[in-house]
Amino acid sequence: MIVLLKQNPDKAQLDSLISWLESKGVEIHPTVGATQTILGLVGDTSHLDIDLISALDIVEAVRRVQEPYKNANRKFHPQDTVIKVGNTQIGGGNLTLIAGPCSVESEEQICEIAMKVKESGATMLRGGAFKPRTSPYSFQGLRNEGLRLLSIAKKLTGLPIVTEIMDISQLPNFDDVDVIQVGARNMQNFELLKALGTVRKPILLKRGLSSTYEELLMSAEYIMAGGNNEVILCERGIRTFETYTRNTLDVAAIPVLKQLSHLPIIIDPSHSAGKSALVSPLSCAAVAAGADGLIIEVHNDPAHALCDGPQSIRPEAFDSLVKKLNVISDTIKE
Ligand code: PEP
Ligand code: MN
Repeated sequence: MIVLLKQNPDKAQLDSLISWLESKGVEIHPTVGATQTILGLVGDTSHLDIDLISALDIVEAVRRVQEPYKNANRKFHPQDTVIKVGNTQIGGGNLTLIAGPCSVESEEQICEIAMKVKESGATMLRGGAFKPRTSPYSFQGLRNEGLRLLSIAKKLTGLPIVTEIMDISQLPNFDDVDVIQVGARNMQNFELLKALGTVRKPILLKRGLSSTYEELLMSAEYIMAGGNNEVILCERGIRTFETYTRNTLDVAAIPVLKQLSHLPIIIDPSHSAGKSALVSPLSCAAVAAGADGLIIEVHNDPAHALCDGPQSIRPEAFDSLVKKLNVISDTIKE
């Protein structure tokens, strides 16, 4: 970090800034110029409050030269993180295919979809039990009953389950859940992230609707700082000026996040597009760009789905999509 001081800084204030920074464990390397003085801060500056330093009377500007996230940073962990879930691995060259309905609706629904997507090559089953809906009058999910039905589908197919947590009070009911999803709307629910840092289960962390890469990685950092290093990043489309699609899939997130972080990244083409016809091309683009996997909404009767029917693809469409994705994945590995 570099602190640029204003001209002729007050000596007492400067001494007090330097001793305060030293007390935080950072080394100070001052460079005194004819008109301006610069303090070079060396050491772990991740816990320093940049806004607090910038607001001091004697400070002109503060620049970070290193990212504020450490655990999620590829610089400190050059190898890709590979997360083991049941018999499958996320990251490290595997193509993870998570498929299932937006919401768990009934035992028949979740079991039928689970069997079909497994047959097509899905490696995990998704299904929302606790649903974050924009309207309080929309279907809110079957809640604990939904978790029970997911367990039945897991027993039937052997597929590990991925489902969303909305509040930490729900955690005691997540024992049989293999990967806990943090939804886009909760990406910056810091108390929830801190609590998930103490959990020993992988966390699928979705990017917030208007969050930057750095904000996403700082949210991953919250979980990792608590001791849980198994974080899977998920790009699920962001808000832009375009309204034709539900969101805009940010394909650049894949190479950028891979460059900045060692964590696996998966793409959600369903919430990105909001339209079932776009799921296949966006999935192909994501795999071609190097995504570690996809999370796709698949429903056996999209027209009657209780949530997100328009963006859900049928099991037959998922089956042909998987065939295409495997070809793309094998091709880019060569
Ligand atoms: C979901 O996966 O069902 C979901 C609600 O996603 P998001 O948080 O990305 O909107
Ligand atoms: Mn959905």
